[in-house]
Order: sequence, then C-alpha cells, then structure tokens
Amino acid sequence: MAAAVTGVVPRSPAFRAGIKCGDVLVSVNGHEINDVLDYMFYCAEDRLVLLLERGGESFSKTVIKSEYDELGLEFKSFLMDEKRSCCNNCIFCFIDQMPKGMRETLYFKDDDARLSFLQGNYVTLTNLQDKDIDRICEMRLNINVSVHTTNPELRCMMMHNRFAGEKLKYLKKIADSGLMMNCQIVCCPGINDGKELERTLNDLSALMPNIQSVAVVPVGVTKFREGLYPLRPFTKDEAGAVIDIIEAKAAECLEKWETRMCFPADEFYLLAGRELPPTEFYEDYPQYENGVGLLRSLYDEVMQALEVCDTDIPPRRVTLVTGTAAESFHKELARIITEKLPQLDIQVVGIVNHFFGETITVAGLVTAGDLIDQLKGRELGDQLLIPKVMLKADEPIFLDDLSVSDVERELGISVRASRNDGFEYLDAVMGTEI
Ligand code: SF4
Repeated sequence: MAAAVTGVVPRSPAFRAGIKCGDVLVSVNGHEINDVLDYMFYCAEDRLVLLLERGGESFSKTVIKSEYDELGLEFKSFLMDEKRSCCNNCIFCFIDQMPKGMRETLYFKDDDARLSFLQGNYVTLTNLQDKDIDRICEMRLNINVSVHTTNPELRCMMMHNRFAGEKLKYLKKIADSGLMMNCQIVCCPGINDGKELERTLNDLSALMPNIQSVAVVPVGVTKFREGLYPLRPFTKDEAGAVIDIIEAKAAECLEKWETRMCFPADEFYLLAGRELPPTEFYEDYPQYENGVGLLRSLYDEVMQALEVCDTDIPPRRVTLVTGTAAESFHKELARIITEKLPQLDIQVVGIVNHFFGETITVAGLVTAGDLIDQLKGRELGDQLLIPKVMLKADEPIFLDDLSVSDVERELGISVRASRNDGFEYLDAVMGTEI
C-alpha cells in the first residue's frame, strides 16, 4: 500500500528534495510504507532512499538528514490508514451501554495497536496476527494491553471472542522480546474478581520486569443494559476485597521487583469507603490516565498550593461540582481550604447521573443536562467550577453536546473548568489567574 502526500513542510528535508503534494510514497530504503508506524520507523535513519510515484511514473529521491529529524511529509490521515475497530463484543463494553443519539464518534470501538504507541490507547491484541507482533517487536514499541483476565476460557467469555484466550500468548512474546507493557483489567463482580483476579495478577507478575504497571478499574454499569449480559456494580465489601487482593500482590511485587506493579483505580477506594493510599504508593503514577492516583495527586497538589498561596484575597462564594463518588473527597478538600482561607465559601455538589443511570458516579460522565436540572434555582454564588474532564478534550462541549455557554445561560452564572491539578483547583476556588 502506498500513501499520497497531501502536504510538504516548508524547508523540511522532503521539501528540499523536491517532493510535492500529490506524489505517492511507496517505500523508504526498500521498506514498503503501509501506515504511520512504518513511516516513522523507517524514516528515522539519516540517509533515506525514497521510492515515489508522480503521474504514474516511478522515481526515487535520496534524502540526507539528521537522524530522527522529521522528513516533513503530510498525509490525508494521521494513521495513513483506516483506524482499526475491535472484533470483540465484551460483556462490559461501555459503548454498548450508551443511549442512542450521542455524537457518532463516541460509538466507534477502536482497537488499534498503532494508537497504543501514538496516543497510549489500550488494545486487546485480539485483532493482531503473528506478523503484527513481530513488527511491534522489531520496532521496539512498548504497548498498552487490555488484559481483563489471563484465564483463556474466561477471556473468551468476557470478550465474546473465541480467539481472545489464545491471543494471551502474545503477552509472553512481547515480554520475551524485552518490551514493556502497561496493562488494564476491567473488573466485574463475580466474574474476574476474587480468585480469578489473583490468578491474573500472578500470571502478569510472572512476566516481570516487563510489566510496567497494571490498573484494575471497576466496570461501569449504566441503565442501558437491556438485552446485554447481566452485570451489576461492585458493592462496598466487594470493592474492599478487590483492594485487598491488589494491595497484597503489590506488596509482594514491591519486595521482589521494587515496584508494586498493580494498582486499584481510585473508584475502588471511594466505593469501599477507604482512605486513599499515601503518595509513595503510586510511585510515578504510571496509571494516572486510567484513574489511578488522580485523587491522591490532586490532594497533595492542593496542599502544596495552599502553602504558597496569597491569603489576602477578597471574599468569594463558589459552587464546585463533581460526580457523586468523589463528593465527600471534595468536601474534605473544601474544608481544608476554608480553614486557611475563611473568606471563601465553597459549596460542593455531587451530581447524580440521571443521563447514564445513578450507578455511574464519576465526574467525567456528568452531562450538562444533569448539571442544569440539579442546579437550577439553587444559590450558586459567584462562579460554578467544573472539572475539565466533563468536557471534550478540544472543545467546551459536554457529553450530551450541550456547551459551557448553554450551562452559563441556563444557570445565569459563569463557569470555570479546571484540570486535575491542585494549583489550578485552588486558583479556580480563589478566583485568581493561573
Ligand atoms: S474491546 Fe471490548 S470494551 Fe473495547 S470497544 Fe471492543 S467490545 Fe468494547
């Protein structure tokens, strides 16, 4: 497969070599270019012989550049190929539990190993073949894997894919080649917790030191499960039992490998009503993106920010919203902040998720509709503070496609969004600039 050039970065090595928009890149140093990984990997060298086509005629260009300098070609899509979707039908898939009518991109079930390297996505390995794994090993690419269980039969059942069990062999192959893996386990009560979770963590620890980290996250169960496998959320005691299993394994790994390897998601501590672990538990926060250690990190940063903040500020009253799970955590933060800054009045409101169902308790899945319904008519003070995770990454739009401006108009108050960063959090509460 060849890729048509859609842009050439001015002054780049490709530009200097006279490559033009519309040329077709066929190979680099004799290697066929099929996607962005081929392009990045084979173009890393300092001397490139490019085979191209223009107007049906083949020609070659030699490019000399510094090693790892960008060649400077642009293509129609970021991957230079179609995004690969998954071939599973997992019993816990969140996409299957979403209501109809949300924005189309939210329904795409991606499972593309290339996005694991480029964006940190987690992949199941189920749509990969031996040659794909060989390429991963040749390119020395670390990978993020959705493991869920190392019991082959159970993995087939959970993922509704009869090949999901045998694909576990790739974990060993990747580890044997010296690459590192971050793993993820979506834990479902009565299915892959208990003894099954112990087995999975034991099997993964047998691949040490090539397992960088394992996040165990609780399954999200919405109200849209009609016709789907019967799943329910964890109870308080079950969440505690999951934490016990992971913490015991983590302590064992720490002694042997100087890393805990496995970490429960913050949600488990909230569900179980347990204290968050101390800062050192999270090491260098390898599973932050999976919701592991976010609250501990936020707490620590707010404490640091409080140490250095200006206490001479005017009175201010704000309303801070979150999901119901972390409501008491934020109330405690608000209490500590107002102890040092008594001129602040922070009202914390945990928004009940009517959109997906009350069992969905995380802040990132709160919609504008629920915010408006539950805050309308309440005294909200000077500003409404929301976590940025409620919005699209690149636009001030909520999951239900309402915008921040819609919320501001409906509630008659300005809205300020802040990242999971303690300094930004305190700035938002104090009304200062970041
Ligand atoms: S791999 Fe499973 S959970 Fe992920 S998108 Fe596919 S069906 Fe859903």
